[in-house]
Amino acid sequence: MNMSETLTTAAKAFGTREASAPLQPLTIERRTPTPRDVEIDILYCGVCHSDLHTARNEWHGTVYPCVPGHEIIGRVISVGAHVDKFKVGDMVGVGCMVDSCQDCEHCKQGLEQYCEAGNIQTYNSPDKHLSIQTFGGYSERVVVDENFVLRIPENLDPAAAAPLLCAGITTYSPLRHWKVGPGKKIGVVGIGGLGHMAIKLAHAMGAHVTVFTTSERKKADALRLGADEVVLSTDIEQMKLSRKLDFVLDAVSADHDINAYLHHVKTDGTLALVGAPEKPLPVAAFSLIPGRKNFAGSMIGGIAETQEMLDFCGEHQITSDVEIINIQEINQAYERMLKGDVKYRFVIDMMSLKDA
Ligand code: NAP
Ligand code: ZN
Repeated sequence: MNMSETLTTAAKAFGTREASAPLQPLTIERRTPTPRDVEIDILYCGVCHSDLHTARNEWHGTVYPCVPGHEIIGRVISVGAHVDKFKVGDMVGVGCMVDSCQDCEHCKQGLEQYCEAGNIQTYNSPDKHLSIQTFGGYSERVVVDENFVLRIPENLDPAAAAPLLCAGITTYSPLRHWKVGPGKKIGVVGIGGLGHMAIKLAHAMGAHVTVFTTSERKKADALRLGADEVVLSTDIEQMKLSRKLDFVLDAVSADHDINAYLHHVKTDGTLALVGAPEKPLPVAAFSLIPGRKNFAGSMIGGIAETQEMLDFCGEHQITSDVEIINIQEINQAYERMLKGDVKYRFVIDMMSLKDA
């Protein structure tokens, strides 16, 4: 597989060779660590809806074979000679990015996710070292530039901390950017992996949180997670009166009527999309014009901000609500995720791959 000069070793993984095929065991190559690299034995990997979108080529850019997984927790098993941030035995995390140019305006500002040269994602990006695509965390080991490795607070359960690496930072970053805090009324649309983290984080930041869900059965959980109000979005009566929210975070993975949620944004307020459905979402001009409303988007978060989020979660004892699975159950887990039947993030115990 390796066509460059870099030395590699084989690693067990789980992935797919085509959009319509189930995930299955694969063997991939990992580079021999360079002096700046950290080699990580993967213990847990969260299952993000982006893994499913990518495995099934719903965003139309998947290169096969595809090994998803970007909510990685593991232990450092070796470090390169010039690594000074980590040592063997450290509990670490890797999120959605493994590299960037580390030199452009955005990278210098800690916004590596908006790197002008394009960030290198943990999976399905051109690998800087090997002339193949990057492979994600549904595997036994990963080798990452130390600047893209995160420190995990010791008081957090490692399995439940895994989803912080994507679901956590993807919701924390826009909540901070749009200054969510005491005195602000915010909305969260969709109680999935991202949505349930947004509820916990916004509550911990001191905001008043209104949750919009299509699932009546999730109402009690939403309140337990930190919501102040829950709106059943399929009930026309409950959706009628605008809640006049300062900020709404939309974390929905599928086609939905965005105008119904813009209706709940107050004058000069913002609705930001983090959910990335396959098809475009039509926005009516008159959903935005009358209240001078803002319609925005946000992508994960930078490395320094990801560490800030992890430390915030350590301080506030925040982790994800997880259901631990074996890698052999990943295809059933994808089907359940499509039905919104997850409480509220699947996390793979990677021992199941090593032992297989
Ligand atoms: P998830 O766990 O599957 O949650 C999605 C939730 O959306 C569901 O639980 C459901 O919540 C709601 N939903 C589903 N279908 C719906 C519909 N037709 N109408 C209204 N609501 C619906 O997914 P996730 O992992 O949280 O990811 C959510 C989205 O964010 C995905 O598209 C993912 O690719 C994207 N994402 C973006 C970034 C970024 O950087 N921007 C990062 C990670 C993920 P209820 O049952 O409560 O309605
Ligand atoms: Zn993700």
